[in-house]
Amino acid sequence: MDFEQYRKHGKEMVDYIADYLQNIRERRVLPNVKPGYMRHLVPDHAPQMGEDWNQIMDDVERVIMPGITHWQSPYMHAYFPALNSFPSLLGDMLSDAINCIGFTWASSPAATELETIVMDWLGKMIGLPSEFLHSNKQTMGGGVIQTTASDCTFVTLLAARSDAIRRYRANNNDLEDAEVNARLVAYCSDQAHSSVEKAGLIGLVKMRFLPSDENLSLRGSTLQKAIDEDLQAGLIPFYLCATLGTTGACAFDNLKEIGPICDAEGVWMHIDAAYAGTAFLCPEYRKFMLGVEHAQSFAFNPSKWMMVHFDCSAMWVKNSGALHKTFNVDPLYLKHENSGAAIDYMHWQIALSRRFRALKLWFVIRSFGVEGLQKHVREGVRLAQYFEDKVRKDDRFDLPAVRNLGMVVFRLKGDNAKTEELLQAINRSGKLHMVPASIKGNYVIRFTVTSQYTTEKDIDRDWEIIQKTHARLESEETDLLEDEVFEDVHAKEVAKDKEKTTWRKSREFGMSLVLSNVPMSPKVVNGSYAAFFDNMVEFAKEITRTDYAEKPIRLSPRRRIHLRDQSKQQSLDIAPLYANRNHPFFKQGSLDSKVEEILESYSNGGYSIKYPQDLSALAETEQEEFTDTIRVVVPTKGIAGKYDGGKSNGEAGGKMRVQTRDASNGVRLFCKHCGHVVDVDEI
Ligand code: PLP
Repeated sequence: MDFEQYRKHGKEMVDYIADYLQNIRERRVLPNVKPGYMRHLVPDHAPQMGEDWNQIMDDVERVIMPGITHWQSPYMHAYFPALNSFPSLLGDMLSDAINCIGFTWASSPAATELETIVMDWLGKMIGLPSEFLHSNKQTMGGGVIQTTASDCTFVTLLAARSDAIRRYRANNNDLEDAEVNARLVAYCSDQAHSSVEKAGLIGLVKMRFLPSDENLSLRGSTLQKAIDEDLQAGLIPFYLCATLGTTGACAFDNLKEIGPICDAEGVWMHIDAAYAGTAFLCPEYRKFMLGVEHAQSFAFNPSKWMMVHFDCSAMWVKNSGALHKTFNVDPLYLKHENSGAAIDYMHWQIALSRRFRALKLWFVIRSFGVEGLQKHVREGVRLAQYFEDKVRKDDRFDLPAVRNLGMVVFRLKGDNAKTEELLQAINRSGKLHMVPASIKGNYVIRFTVTSQYTTEKDIDRDWEIIQKTHARLESEETDLLEDEVFEDVHAKEVAKDKEKTTWRKSREFGMSLVLSNVPMSPKVVNGSYAAFFDNMVEFAKEITRTDYAEKPIRLSPRRRIHLRDQSKQQSLDIAPLYANRNHPFFKQGSLDSKVEEILESYSNGGYSIKYPQDLSALAETEQEEFTDTIRVVVPTKGIAGKYDGGKSNGEAGGKMRVQTRDASNGVRLFCKHCGHVVDVDEI
């Protein structure tokens, strides 16, 4: 394709996208295809010669669209929203064209700089405490765009883990890192997303799921009890993932109660507000985040409700030094002459490479403005309320949990099977799509208002379909249900399949749609779980036992006890990494613009994480290592703290610097946390 062809086909693509989005109601929201459907539609080998673009585009409707779940449809009520918007699409179009891989500042300065700016904008827009902002020079806080909320949880868990091991070892030098690691314990509520469980699993730490109260909220007394028990058992509580807006029912953990406990017990509180975070754009919903000041990190997905399309997870930390200390590696080929003077986001994430995601976020914020985004949120909530009112007026249905924001959970009165059957029939029709969840043993249907184009008329239609489907199921006129199937290009195939399938009895169908993100819900069984069982025959028997048809198959976390018993969990050995801690000079840390704050934090005996254990023990140990080579310059007005041998540099509000003489006669500043070195001509 040459430039002229690109101009032509690019414009055609824009039109195709506009048509697709504008007419999306005409498509069945949930596809009706079977695994492997595509194999029959495309050749089994790549074309030898390049094909004509028109031919390729023709295959989009023939091959791709029949297998698409239309997440942008106003009839999509499953999961949480994953919205796009035109400014977002255009932002990514440009970003994709630029396609810079902004791992360091130098690898594309605008990408890094815009990210720090929009993350500050966004932090202010949702009312985060200023400690989380790059612009707050008193802290090492700041925001970063990660790929997913799962990444945010995992990254912060790893940072908290390193931090906990470091702190604990400072006071207990007889223990190896791996031994401390084996005693770490993290917490979340029984309503937390499965990604929290996964973070513990791959982060090789124990994760305790604490019971939520009747409002599905994690309470302080429950957390305190668990911590006390674990301390008694010789474990080290170190991390809590609190959820604002749980996946099952959009419930909120009680930050006001659990936050102070985390502070007092030295537990890093991370907040996962994947969906609900967007609502905090509206001041009236910030009541749910009261207590956020106790958090060390906070994340939400603009890629869900905020119309910044996937991927875009906004994450803030109060202490970026904790990320640096966890993720900092610094090969020579990634160094640049501004290393240390600017943020290198590669130290804030797991992967090296990163997309220029700030562009679409910037376009969306500017294009809608704060008020436009608030209007979008409020309309979503209003429509959810509108739906809720309809459910409430129908006495065949129950609303088993309080509605929060844009999500309603409802069920038919009576046993779970009726609700499950209803949901299957509705999803099968392709007219709207919802998924279930399990709340305290009850099978519920989640109805989330997703699209910004949803109208009251859409909701009226959806409710009518739900009611009609129920009525037909009740009257057992199941044949009529088949007429309800949304006709599409695959209608014939659907008809054929229907003959073979006993839809209503298909257990798998229901299972595959169940959200596997609440511990009570059934898990999709993946073969890899088999590895957790010593005896494969027993494993096979267990998962095929018929009584599991109605019950969740709880493979984890209980099953993982097997794993722990085999001591596999203790195989982590990060001692080699730690061996370098005495040579920070050689670990060239590419720090961001917060070099000086990190220095301050070091000498201040701990930075913003208010742990009860005295970090000065660690500070003093490290301090001793460098007393011969360090002269500390302390500002007249700086962060209060104890600096041995410091002296004022006389700058009002000035920055503290740690300096030493370079062998080649220059003056060298360095960070004692990561050893980053900055040479300057003079101080
Ligand atoms: N946390 C919560 C509360 C969620 O609801 C979800 C997904 O819906 C996630 C985490 C996972 O989000 P992601 O797919 O961005 O990892």
